[in-house]
Formats: sequence, C-alpha cells, structure tokens
Amino acid sequence: MTGIRELLLSRIRDVADYPEPGVMFKDITPLLADPAAFTALTDALAEIAESTGATKVVGLEARGFILGAPVAVRAGLGFIPVRKAGKLPGATLAQAYDLEYGSAEIEVHAEDLTADDRVLIVDDVLATGGTAEASVQLIRRAGAEVAGLAVLMELGFLNGRVRLEPALNGAPLEAL
Ligand code: AMP
Repeated sequence: MTGIRELLLSRIRDVADYPEPGVMFKDITPLLADPAAFTALTDALAEIAESTGATKVVGLEARGFILGAPVAVRAGLGFIPVRKAGKLPGATLAQAYDLEYGSAEIEVHAEDLTADDRVLIVDDVLATGGTAEASVQLIRRAGAEVAGLAVLMELGFLNGRVRLEPALNGAPLEAL
C-alpha cells in the first residue's frame, strides 16, 4: 500500500487556521480532482468494505458522501447517508454528541438499516472521533451491526482511535 499512501498524501492540501485559528484543515479537493488518486482511494476503501463483509456503506455528511458513494457502487453495496439533524424527510433516528463548544446531532432514516445489515462507516478525516462514535451508536440503535470504520486519514494527536475503540467493540478502524 506504500505507493497509494504517497499518492493520497500528495493530493491532500493543508490549510492553516481554517475554519478557525489553530486548526490545520485537511482539504481533499485536490485528491477528488485527480482521477488516479480518487480511483485509488475508492478501490482501497472498497477492498476494506469487501474484507469486512459489509452489506451497506454509511457516509458521514458531507465529505463521507463523496467518498462513500463510489465505494458502495464499486463494492456492490447500498449507500446510506448519515446527515446533520433536520435534513432527512422521513422517519429518523437521531443521536446527539458533544462538541468542544456545544453539541451536534446526526440522523439516519430508520428504515434504511435492518438487523441483517453489517455497516462500514466511511469519512474523510477522523479527528476527535466524536462524529464517528455517534454514528456507531446510531447504527447499533437501528439494529444493525458495525462492520468497521474506514477513513482517508486519522489525526493521531487527537486520539480519536483511543476514544472509538471501546465503541467499535473489536470492529476494525482502517486509516489509509
Ligand atoms: P471529529 O468528530 O472530531 O472526529 O471530526 C470529524 C469530522 O470533522 C469529519 O467529518 C471531518 O470531515 C471533519 N474534520 C475534523 N477535523 C478536520 C480537519 N483538520 N480537516 C478536515 N476535516 C476535519
């Protein structure tokens, strides 16, 4: 996987102090604009989906949609969006979680997941792990099993992996 890692890293742009001072924003738009890099990323994530035996891909708003949808198509699986509260028109399950200041809420259409589903969660960046942890809880509450979490990159210094491991309960966390 060494070649892919270098290719992906070379297409991620660091933007200092965005969206606020002190944050190094990982901008994936150069990667999305490069068909070789985007295809390599999609293939690598689809391989993870297949190796975990996932039956569905859940993408986290918003960049998890861009990465997760082609992975679902490539792996022959359904795609389910987990959205910020208030965006889904049908009956939803909601999960609140804490942010540094305040809180946020995510939702999924309740009918999209069943007890037969094994779900791979896909997002671009794992930072504190708060969003991913809430999505794990949401998927379990919907009655489905979490097959794993796959991200393009993990900001190790924020210890999201440490926070998530108990919630994942042995399911793999893959960061490309
Ligand atoms: P967290 O819940 O702290 O793990 O944050 C994860 C979510 O915030 C992901 O959906 C990311 O897209 C976004 N995010 C957090 N930190 C960054 C960063 N430094 N650069 C780009 N996106 C980020």
